[in-house]
Amino acid sequence: MGDQHFLIDDRVIDRIIRYASLESNDTVLEIGAGTGNLTKSLAKHVSNVIAIESDLSLVEKLEYLSLPNVKVIQGDALKVEFPKFDKIVSNLPYSISSDITFKLLKHNFKLGVLMYQHEFAKRMVATAGMKNYGRLSIVTQYFAEIQIMEIIPNSALYPQPEVKSAIVRIVPHTPQLEGFDKDFFLELVAAVFTQRRKQMKNVIINAAKMMNLGDAEKLIEMLPQEIMSKRPEKLSPEELAVLSNLIYKVHHEAPTI
Ligand code: SAM
Repeated sequence: MGDQHFLIDDRVIDRIIRYASLESNDTVLEIGAGTGNLTKSLAKHVSNVIAIESDLSLVEKLEYLSLPNVKVIQGDALKVEFPKFDKIVSNLPYSISSDITFKLLKHNFKLGVLMYQHEFAKRMVATAGMKNYGRLSIVTQYFAEIQIMEIIPNSALYPQPEVKSAIVRIVPHTPQLEGFDKDFFLELVAAVFTQRRKQMKNVIINAAKMMNLGDAEKLIEMLPQEIMSKRPEKLSPEELAVLSNLIYKVHHEAPTI
C-alpha cells in the first residue's frame, strides 16, 4: 500500500523522540502506528500513548506487542474523534497529510513532531509570494510555529518511498487578535484560495456568495482598499486574519447588508 512506509532507522526514531521533548506525564497521540516501531519508543518515554491505525492486521500486531501504556484505536484518523492529548508524534500516511493537519490545528495541544512528504513540508513553511504558498501555509503558520527539522534519507523507510520525507515540528500558539473567530477564518481562507490569482476585490465577491455574506459590493467598500487591490497569494497570514476579523464584524453587526 502506498501509505505504508515503516521507519526502520533507529537513529531517525531517536531524533524524532528528541525533537518532541517528551516528559514522562505527556499523553502522546500517534496517527498511523503501523508495526509500532515509533510507538515502542514513545511508550518508553511517556505514561500514555494513544495510537490510531486503520489497517486491522496492523492493529492486531500492535495489540500483540502488549504495551501496557499504549491504547490502540482502530479506525480512520480523519473520522475518529481525537482524545485529549499533549503532543502528537507520527510518521503520517502521506495521502491524508492535508486533511489531518487541518483537523489537528482545530485541537489544543503543546507540540507536534510529524513526518511529511518533503514537498508538503515546504508548502507548510512557504511565505507570501512563493509559488507553493497557499491555504496550508497560511493556516499552519497562523496557528503555529512551523520548522522543518530535517530531511530524512529514503533508506530510513521500508519499503523505500519514491519521494523525500521531512520531519516537521509544530508548536501551536493562540491567535492574539481580539474577537478572532477561528472557524470563520478557516472558511474564509478556504474560499479565498479557490481563486489565488484574482484580485481580492473579485475574490471577496465570490467568497461572499460561497459564505452567504450578503451584498459583496457594500462589504468591499468597508474593507481596506490596499488589501482589496492585492492577490491572495501576496497576503500574509496576519493580513488575512485581520481581513477575516473585519468581515466577521461587518457581517455580524449588520448581517443584512
Ligand atoms: N508509524 C509507522 C512507522 O513509522 O513505522 C507507520 C507509518 S506509515 C507511513 C502510515 C501508517 O498509517 C500505516 O500503517 C497505515 O496503515 C496507516 N494509515 C493510513 N491511512 C490511515 C488513516 N486514515 N487513519 C489511520 N491510519 C492510517
